[in-house]
This record gives sequence, structure tokens and C-alpha cells, in this order.
Amino acid sequence: MHTIKDMLGRSGAIPLAQALEVLKQQLQSIPCVDEEKVLLESSLHRTTSREIRSTEDLPPHPRSTMDGYAVHASDTFGATESLPAYLEISGEVLMGATPKQGPSSETCYKIATGGFMPPGADAVVMLEHTVRVDDKMIEVTRPVSIGSNVIAAGDDVRKGAPLLPAGHLLRPQDLGLLAGIGVEGLFVRKQVRVAVISTGDEIVSHTIQPPPGKIRDMNGINIAALVRETGGRPVSYGIIKDDEKTFSETIQKAMKSCDIVLFSGGSSVGVRDMGEQVLDRLGKPGIIVHGVAVKPGKPVIIAFSGETALFGLPGHPVSAAVSFDLFVRPAIHHYQGRTPSHLPSLPTVTARLARNLNSAAGRTDFVRVQVKKDGARFTAHPVLGKSGALSTMVKADGYIIIEESLQGFHEGEEVTVRLYSTAN
Ligand code: AMP
Ligand code: MG
Repeated sequence: MHTIKDMLGRSGAIPLAQALEVLKQQLQSIPCVDEEKVLLESSLHRTTSREIRSTEDLPPHPRSTMDGYAVHASDTFGATESLPAYLEISGEVLMGATPKQGPSSETCYKIATGGFMPPGADAVVMLEHTVRVDDKMIEVTRPVSIGSNVIAAGDDVRKGAPLLPAGHLLRPQDLGLLAGIGVEGLFVRKQVRVAVISTGDEIVSHTIQPPPGKIRDMNGINIAALVRETGGRPVSYGIIKDDEKTFSETIQKAMKSCDIVLFSGGSSVGVRDMGEQVLDRLGKPGIIVHGVAVKPGKPVIIAFSGETALFGLPGHPVSAAVSFDLFVRPAIHHYQGRTPSHLPSLPTVTARLARNLNSAAGRTDFVRVQVKKDGARFTAHPVLGKSGALSTMVKADGYIIIEESLQGFHEGEEVTVRLYSTAN
């Protein structure tokens, strides 16, 4: 990789759009993970690996969409309140039963919503448009046309029709429809295995009281949760010391069993060289991005070794989380075989900015905001604090992006807030 170094020997940061493009190009040559068959009820948020076509008509049989009477539409033509059509009740469709017989002309069958249409009947008169004369007779006060209040066989889904493409993220409604056509199991992409490694001589497990000078590992937990939320399977490799041999061994071990390797920390100058050397020795193509003009998150490293992606995320917890969103999330989606979407990966709201925000040109800023409601409008209140302060992210509902070409936003300007998924 060709890098521009600054006076301290550090690599220069490239614009965000360029870094994303380099990553995208690299990912294009990498296959997604294998498929596996899972039960329908375990397939939520998994990605389809094959197109799914319907093997059946849904509904399999015409059904009523209203409570009322199954009729021959022609028997109701011209019916009004003053001149109703009189129909004899000659039968009833029981819910869940397949009627063998149906109404003859001038008669009707009582039917409930969802009931199977009896043979011969071609429409349903709503209960509200009838008057009960006695046990055996109704008055129909409005005409119905053929097919009124009936869902025909295959109206919802036709046999053989494509239901879901390959590369589709399965949502609750997808599962419901698949259940409707009797799918018990389906082929999905295996979950991408993502190694999570924390580095730093000062980092200890969150389960112990840190001795003086040490801090608890926040990134390990935060990043593993982000992996899970993105549909991947985090595999923890714990906390390792700032030592080249241990680092190199852990990375190699992780590469053997994972598709993606994430490590956080090691962004300070001396230690960064260690990460750089280890990653570049792993094999082709090596480091493809080293430093991106974003705030927070600048010191990110992206490398590939064969088909394995490696991401060195900054140690500052907020920077690590922002870098994850920018670079790791799309990579997980790629390995997972998800078809790229034109939609934003996080839900958004439009809000008015509560105060001026400045940003250096030539850098993309991610500003954490709280979203409040002011009458009918949302307002975005920047949460200030150092980039390492994870509490700023906890207080925030989402973030706004100040593009590289902008020098900020004015108070009152309309901005798009990307909501953290837990915000809705
Ligand atoms: P580094 O990138 O290693 O220079 O770390 C930058 C800052 O982030 C330092 O203050 C580290 O102590 C802190 N840091 C690094 N890794 C973690 C972690 N896993 N959890 C919490 N803070 C971390
Ligand atoms: Mg460190």
C-alpha cells in the first residue's frame, strides 16, 4: 500500500468516501459464507441463500373476508332498502370446514370471516347489508358483484410465484408468509464468525476491580454486541498485551476459525507500528486502508489476508463503535450474502439542530445527538464530550453526519439523525 507519512512518521488519513470505496472493491472479490438449513422459527434476521418460490396457492381455496352470507351475486342485483332481495338461509359454513355443498339459487349460506366459500356461491353479502327476517330468511339491502368480499385462491400468493430473493434479510412478516405456505425449514447463510480482540497493557476484564492504572475492557463487550446486532456471531479472544508476539499469534489463531477479525486499541504511535507490521506480514493484499479522515475514528486500519478481513479499530470506545458502523457493518453484510440496499442501515428522523455545530473541512464528523420533541417537530441536541467518553453515546439517541465538504451546520438547520437501533 502506498502511504503518505506526516512529520511524526504517521500515515495520512484518506477521505471517508475513498476508504469505503477501497473496502467495497476489495470485498467484491470475496465470496460470502456457506449456507445451512434452519427451522423457520430460527430464521429471523438471517439471510436467504436461495430464492424462495411458493409451492402453493395462498389461500388454497376462496375465503370470505367478511362476516355475512355467501350468495349467488346475481340474486342480489337491484336490491335496495325499499326493495330488498329475499334469500333463504339454506346452510352454514363452519370455520375450518370444507363445505361440500353450497347454496342453490335464491338461497344463501351463513359464513364468517375466513370461512371457505361453499361451491356455487360467488360473493359474500356483509352482515351489515342484511336484515334478518326470521330463522330461515334474510333481506339483502344492497347488491354485491361477483367476487365481492371474497379472496380468491392464490390471491395472496400464487403457486410458483417468487416470494423472496436470495440475499434477503428475513423479517417477522417474511416468516409469517412462509408459514402460510407450509415452509418448515429454509436455506440461509451461516452466521459470519467475527473474532473480537481487545488490546492494551492497561485493559483488564470488566469482571474485576481494576488495579491502579488499569481500566476495564468496554470495547470487547460493546463490539461483540454490535456484531450480534448485525447478524454475525462474535467469538471472543479476550484481552491481549501490547506485545507483538502475542498479538501476532492471537490474530493468526483467530483467522483460522473466523471470517472477520476485529481488534481494538493500538492506535497510539508506537503500538500502531506493531499492528501495521503484523497485518502487513499476514499475506496479500495486506493493509488497504490506514487512517480515515473521520472524527471520531481516524486511526482505523483495514487489511485483508486472502479471504479474511481484518479491522484494527481505535481504542477509544466511541471511535471503535463509529468505525464499526462505517466499515465493519457493511463487511459483515457482504460476508453474510446480503444484497446491498439503497436504504440507510439505521432508521432516520429529520430534526432541527438546537445549536451551531462547527467542523473542520476535509473531515467527516459524526456528532452524537439527543432527539427531543418540540411541538410537532424533532430537535437534535448535540451531546458534547470527548470521543472516548462512551457515556455520550449512551445519552444519545443517534448521530448526525457533517460531510467532509461542510464546515458545520447552523442552529435551526434541518438535519438527518441516524437513530441507534435501540432508539425506536
Ligand atoms: P489505543 O488505541 O490503544 O491507543 O487506546 C486509546 C484509548 O482507548 C486509551 O485511553 C485506551 O486506554 C482506551 N482503550 C483501548 N482499548 C480499550 C478497551 N477495550 N476498553 C476501554 N478503553 C479502551
Ligand atoms: Mg492501547
